[in-house]
Amino acid sequence: MSSRKLMTVEAARAAMLAHARPRAAIPVKVGVEALDRVLAEPVTATRDQPPFDAAAMDGYTVTASGLSDTASTTLRVIGESAAGHGFAGLLNDGEAVRIFTGAPCPPGAAFVVPQELAARDGDQVTLKPRDQSGSYIRPRGADFRSGDVLLAAGVRLDPWRLSLCAAAGRGDVLVRPRPRLAILSTGDELVEAGASPKPDQIFDSGSPALTALTTVWGADAVRLRPAGDDVAAIAAAVEKAEVELIVMIGGASVGDHDLAKPALARLGLELVVESVAVRPGKPTWFGVLPDGRLVLGLPGNPASALVCAELFLLPLIDALSGAAPGPNLIAARLASPLPANGPREHWMRATLAHSLDGVMTAEPLKDQDSSLVTVFAAADALLMRAANAPAVVAGEVATVLPLMRR
Ligand code: AMP
Ligand code: MG
Repeated sequence: MSSRKLMTVEAARAAMLAHARPRAAIPVKVGVEALDRVLAEPVTATRDQPPFDAAAMDGYTVTASGLSDTASTTLRVIGESAAGHGFAGLLNDGEAVRIFTGAPCPPGAAFVVPQELAARDGDQVTLKPRDQSGSYIRPRGADFRSGDVLLAAGVRLDPWRLSLCAAAGRGDVLVRPRPRLAILSTGDELVEAGASPKPDQIFDSGSPALTALTTVWGADAVRLRPAGDDVAAIAAAVEKAEVELIVMIGGASVGDHDLAKPALARLGLELVVESVAVRPGKPTWFGVLPDGRLVLGLPGNPASALVCAELFLLPLIDALSGAAPGPNLIAARLASPLPANGPREHWMRATLAHSLDGVMTAEPLKDQDSSLVTVFAAADALLMRAANAPAVVAGEVATVLPLMRR
């Protein structure tokens, strides 16, 4: 099944990804602008963090011989070190420096004695015997050292990684631009939600879903005005889209009114994937236009479009963004038995549950009809059944693709 005619999910995805390249890197400020972007360069530390031995407590810092293990010691306080205002001098035996959390320890300092163990009297401080639980000093470079690679190229920036970039002093970083996508629904029966449908029309639910989903996945998605089942109208809508990837919904099959591929053929489409041995979503196709724009064709049935978006569109967006392409699969135990599968890989809409003993279970929703919008709205995950898989009993481990639900 490696021919273009009917490819396996894996072969089809690989064929699509072979054409997906990120655009040239751009600098962005380390902040909200960089959120969810993919690094195009490694972020390397140019300074130790902390850049000095730092106090981990408020208290008094003393030399290695400044404290007794058994008796109280009285020392002369020679100055103060606060965060942002270090003590300039040296610390010698018999002396202490008043110190606060985050302040640099002066040369000679070996311990910080927490202030709870100190009694101050003028320029003298009496310290209780040494607390064996630690030095309360965070050594220079304990977090990271100059030269350390903190984040590799290809990593997606989330708030925690942005924090690391900032801690390393980076004001901006090189990232990949968000891939630009155009989403086009096709079909004479479609009207916009909010409009008044004729009795033989339905609302377009596919393109709002995919526009939102691809935005969450890190693309700059624009929704084109739905086109009717008309070769010229479809070709005209696609022709003007200034994007890297066009996603077409509907008209993917080979019926008299399935005009997505014939319309794109007018624009010189090179068909890379003609159909996929997947359930739902067999008519899914993929091609490349002469100007390099990619086109993913999804079937119009809502569940087919959304399943194949997870299997193909998410990896394509990842690759166009410069990230390692998903999908990211996990394992779960079946909550109920399943019959043998047919010749197409089946991705069933399922709910996930956590049992009290820490095991995650997956339960396919009752009705797997590909036309149902309600079922997807209730699903947590897609449960994979391999092509020709034998019947399985409850409790067996299954491969699951979790949906990004919150
Ligand atoms: P098609 O892929 O064009 O053969 O459409 C298959 C089924 O999906 C038909 O019942 C269509 O009415 C329906 N459909 C097509 N596009 C959409 C869409 N954007 N939103 C909701 N349903 C759609
Ligand atoms: Mg149609």
